Amino acid sequence: MTKGNGRLAIVAGGAGFLGSHLTDLLLDRGYRVLCIDNLRTGRRDNLRHLEREPRFDLMEWDVIVPLPGKDQKRLRPAEIYNLACAASPPHYQSDPEHTMLTSVVGTRNLLRLAEGAGARFLQASTSEVYGDPDVHPQVETYWGNVNPTGPRACYDEGKRSAETLAFDFLRTGRVDVRVARIFNTYGPRMRADDGRVVSNIVCQALSGKPVTVYGDGSQTRSFCYVGDLIEGLNRLMDYGAPDLGPVNLGNPAELTVRDLVDRVVALTGSEATVVEAPLPVDDPRRRRPDITKARDRLGWEPRIGLDAGLRATIDWFAAEAERVVAEDFPRRRNGNGHAAMPAADGSA
Ligand code: UDP
Repeated sequence: MTKGNGRLAIVAGGAGFLGSHLTDLLLDRGYRVLCIDNLRTGRRDNLRHLEREPRFDLMEWDVIVPLPGKDQKRLRPAEIYNLACAASPPHYQSDPEHTMLTSVVGTRNLLRLAEGAGARFLQASTSEVYGDPDVHPQVETYWGNVNPTGPRACYDEGKRSAETLAFDFLRTGRVDVRVARIFNTYGPRMRADDGRVVSNIVCQALSGKPVTVYGDGSQTRSFCYVGDLIEGLNRLMDYGAPDLGPVNLGNPAELTVRDLVDRVVALTGSEATVVEAPLPVDDPRRRRPDITKARDRLGWEPRIGLDAGLRATIDWFAAEAERVVAEDFPRRRNGNGHAAMPAADGSA
C-alpha cells in the first residue's frame, strides 16, 4: 500500500474526463475513492473498469444539494477534490444557471463537508478566471479580464466565486484549501460531443469530415496532456503548506488553433478539409500559463509533448469509434478504414 494508505478521497465530478483519471491515480496510490457525480456530463463508462474494485464507489448525486445527513456523518474523507462542473463552453452554456450554482453552492456544500470531516480540499479552478487576458503569459498574481455578463460568465464568474469561497474558508481556519487553475487539457475519455477543439478536430479528422476552425485560427492555447495534469493536481493536494495561493497547472507550449489543426490532420493522415466557423463571443485571444510557481513549489512540470499526447488521444478516439461501431452502429463504418465518429453535435 502506497501513500494513500486506505484513506478516503472524495472526487466530486469523478465520472468526468479529469475526475476519472484522477480516480485511477488515487486508487493506484492506495486511497479508497468515492466519486460523486450527477452524470450530466460525466459518464459511467469512464469508471466501468473499476466496477469490481472494492476500494471504489460511485454516488450519483448533484453537489448543488448537500449530501444526506447520514452520509455527512458516515463519510470521513481525508481529502476532497472538487472537479464537479461542466467544463466545455457548449455544455456549461446549455444550462448557465446550473453551471453557476454548481460552482458556488456546490463548492460551499463540499467545503462544509470538508470542514466537518477535517479534510483537505482541492478546488479545480480554471484559466478562465483570467478571461481574455491582458497579461501574457498568465501569472497567478494577475486578476483577469472577465466579461461578467457574457455567455462565458456562468463558468468564469462561478469559478472565480468558488475560489473566493475556498480562500475565505482557508483564511478563517475552517478548511485546509488548495486551488489549481487548470489550463486547456486533452486526452483519452474526452467526450466526442464535448465541443472543445481537440475532441472536435480529432473526431472530424478521423471520420473525414471538414475540420472546424473558429475565426481565423490565430487565437492561441497551450494544451496539457491529461496524465501530466492529474499528477500536478495530486502534488498540489500533497503540498505541505496551505498558504500557496492559486497555482497554474498547464503546459506552457503555446500554439495557434490553426497550427493545432494542422498537427492533428497530419497525425491522423486525414484528407479532411478545413472550414472556418464563427468565432464564439468572448473567445480569449491567447492563453499560456506561467508555471513558475508549480515548478518551484511542487517540482512539477508537464512531460508529455503535444505530438505524443495527440497520438495517444487519436488512438483512443479511433478505438472508441471501433467499439461503438462494433457494439451498436455497424452502418457507421466509412470507406477509409476508420469508423465514423459521432458528430460533434452528438448526432449520428
Ligand atoms: N475551436 C475551434 N474549433 C472547434 C472548437 C473550438 O477552432 O471545433 C477554438 C475555440 O474558438 C477556441 C479554441 O479553439 O479559440 C479552444 O476552444 P475550446 O472550446 O477547446 O477551449 P476554451 O475556449 O475554453 O479554451
